[in-house]
Amino acid sequence: MPVTSNVAWDERLEAYKGRDTAHYIETVKASASRCAACRLPLGAGAALSLTVDITEGRDLDGIPSLTFDAAVCHLQCQEPGLWVSQASGVMRDLSSCGARMVLSRGPSGTMNIPVLAYTLVPNMVFGEPGGEMTSALVALLLQHGFQMSLSASYTEILQRAVHARDTCTCTVAAGGAVQLHVDGFLMHSQQLDTTDPNDSLWLQAAGAGHVLVISGDNLTFTETGLELAAAARLGTLVTGFVPAFAGH
Ligand SMILES: [Zn+2]
Repeated sequence: MPVTSNVAWDERLEAYKGRDTAHYIETVKASASRCAACRLPLGAGAALSLTVDITEGRDLDGIPSLTFDAAVCHLQCQEPGLWVSQASGVMRDLSSCGARMVLSRGPSGTMNIPVLAYTLVPNMVFGEPGGEMTSALVALLLQHGFQMSLSASYTEILQRAVHARDTCTCTVAAGGAVQLHVDGFLMHSQQLDTTDPNDSLWLQAAGAGHVLVISGDNLTFTETGLELAAAARLGTLVTGFVPAFAGH
């Protein structure tokens, strides 16, 4: 039973993740704070285990896809494991999760940039097991004018971010509902609280006409904020400015 950074894992995982295996295990570990079995904190230095649910499917063009749904537990709560199943439909249902924030830029930090960050859960990749794999979400956003960021620093992301293609739009309703559409499809939505000072600031900043979208795979959303380091290191972090419109 191989162990990476205190995490015991099923050796069959390597057939799917290839040379990304160690990175993948570290990323999943970094995003977990509680045991998926007993819900108690994982604790520093504890012996842990990784379980992975893999779903094999095909997209509309027949290209093979894999989704990885992983959980970290105390080793004493759960043995490492790996399960593979076939998707029943063409695409497995993915859900999106996200966060928002306001960044400042300009000579005196006076310009507020509203940021919408999101990812799809579980992460879905195209490719054959063990071969080169491409993130479905990253590939889609790059096609629509997003740019890859190799840095997790917000300063650098702001400096280098480009405008996405006009197939990407963000609508902001008066009641605080924010929706991101790409190529006509609703990719992500968040309901902002117009009575919350941070959300009010976000909505006000979006009124200037643009939202910076930060997305990709391996983004980690925690109670304290957004962690981009793993995504930047793994080449799965993409950003783009998207026009914001008043919606209904
Ligand atoms: Zn446990």
